[in-house]
Amino acid sequence: MLIKPATSHTLTQCWYTRTHVPTSRKEKGEGDVVMSICRYCERQIRSHGGKSWVLADGVDLDELASRSHIRYICVTNVADGLIVARYVIAPDADDASTKAQIETISESHAANVPGSGLVVQLKGGPQR
Ligand SMILES: [Zn+2]
Repeated sequence: MLIKPATSHTLTQCWYTRTHVPTSRKEKGEGDVVMSICRYCERQIRSHGGKSWVLADGVDLDELASRSHIRYICVTNVADGLIVARYVIAPDADDASTKAQIETISESHAANVPGSGLVVQLKGGPQR
């Protein structure tokens, strides 16, 4: 059976990869939020700092997590914004043990090797 081009809907790249790519037109939102339109699915997307993009009307797990009082260490691939790993930190962990944990995680992912393309960040916790 032939599929007529007019009736076949091609799924956009980001439907598979969940990686939305902004067009060159970007607007500043609240705080460090940037708004744009995805060049593939043409839906409105937003970003924190412009590294990774999510659907503007979707749930932003990163944003939810960054508002969380649970602190965790996040290993992110800078190139595509994908989260490689997340480690929850014990609520009673002090700064020194948190720092040591970040270092251990950086080493285990080789994130501290130049050119690794990974960032290890502390997220969540009480707002300062
Ligand atoms: Zn898209």
